[in-house]
Amino acid sequence: EHNRTADELEGKDRKHLWHHMAPYSDKAAPMIVTEGKGSWITDLNGKRYLDAMSGLWCVNVGYGRKELAEAAYEQLLTMPYYPLSQSHLPAIRLAEKLSEWLEGEYVIFFSNSGSDANEAAFKMVRQYQQQIGRHSRYKFISRYRSYHGGSMGALSATGQAQRKYKYEPLSSGFLHVRPPDSYRRPAGMSVHDFNLQCAQAIEDTIVWEGEETIAGVILEPVITGGGIIVPEPAYLERVQEICRSHGVLLIVDEVICGFGRSGRKFGHHNFGLKPDIVTMAKGLTSGYLPLSATAVCKDIYEVFKEQEDYSYFRHVNTFGGNPAACALALKNLEILETEGLVERARLLGERLSEQLAELDSHPLVGDIRSFGFLTGIELVKSKETKAPVSLATVKKIMATCKERGLIIGKNGDTVAGFNNVLTLAPPLSSTDEDLDFIVTTVKQVMSENEKETD
Ligand code: PMP
Repeated sequence: EHNRTADELEGKDRKHLWHHMAPYSDKAAPMIVTEGKGSWITDLNGKRYLDAMSGLWCVNVGYGRKELAEAAYEQLLTMPYYPLSQSHLPAIRLAEKLSEWLEGEYVIFFSNSGSDANEAAFKMVRQYQQQIGRHSRYKFISRYRSYHGGSMGALSATGQAQRKYKYEPLSSGFLHVRPPDSYRRPAGMSVHDFNLQCAQAIEDTIVWEGEETIAGVILEPVITGGGIIVPEPAYLERVQEICRSHGVLLIVDEVICGFGRSGRKFGHHNFGLKPDIVTMAKGLTSGYLPLSATAVCKDIYEVFKEQEDYSYFRHVNTFGGNPAACALALKNLEILETEGLVERARLLGERLSEQLAELDSHPLVGDIRSFGFLTGIELVKSKETKAPVSLATVKKIMATCKERGLIIGKNGDTVAGFNNVLTLAPPLSSTDEDLDFIVTTVKQVMSENEKETD
């Protein structure tokens, strides 16, 4: 029931709040959420929804965890803030815990957001290359359809069409190559050959640009926001080899893939990678407070440490690693461990994939791709041409799911017209009943939409 309070609040919302990436028309009001518990959220009208999109902001342990609120509260009472030019207990404990989770020797630099973490990584890589005498290395390579953040450097690395929107000129020295989007590989080519060809595109770019100009490569293990693009392991192995053989550092962006989503602690663990730098954010606190991290392998850090006074890393982030966020993050990792949520993600992901497999024969389903408890369903007009369905079709399916109490996402390349991948990424703490509800609703809504909407 839409009551007066709701009308009033919507009016105030429209008047005062500038929403992220969501131009609401007069007809479509934003959902005003008031509460969350487990995988479910409640809106101002008291309607409940299972939030199968929360995985994109990585509420991995679910909503309404009192322990997380308490961890932050206790810390705010005892020591609310001190900058990390000095130190404090939650940051030390969390850095130690993260190194353990990363299964390698890393040193942790804290910031506030995924974009921040990637910006720090770019600056570290450029400075490192200079400090070891490779003065002309400043360029980065990333993939089209990737998303690495909204600040100028991170946006420059981003490979979605929105980078070309109205914000140019971006930072110079950011180059892009084709992602291993096997579903759209050239006809007649095997998935394996295509994956190797896409890896080769990175080496070709390094060679053509001159390896002495290339500082780093940044990639997500699986492209998430750009439409759940899952590579073959051989692709990532080859990219790592290429980076090593050309003196190029490999930055792995774990902002979405990290903290259990993939069924392993980090997405890159599924592929046996040993990145030089790992960036992480959202799932670090399950989205409860802003916190991000740039983990740098020890060998690189040593080069910074050895420098004279004025060669240190000149990058400050006032609230990065603030004590309350670190204390909360530590508790979040404890919950993931004690409740076995990383393994649970793998199990739920397997079940979700199995149960959705029959959608393969649906006339609008071109491809279903999964990485742990993250699934993308690519919708096409025709299985032969693979032309994406209209945005109206995607929106109708999402809206019908929402009416029935299920929030799902859409991903792709927003401006380029590939906005056609339905995305499911529920909390890792989802119950068996939650999973049943997701599967039943998605199948039901898909069966009612076998044709395109005009
Ligand atoms: N990297 C990836 C893979 C992301 O998905 C995002 C956010 N969607 C970012 C970086 C940027 O994170 P933030 O919005 O916290 O700056």
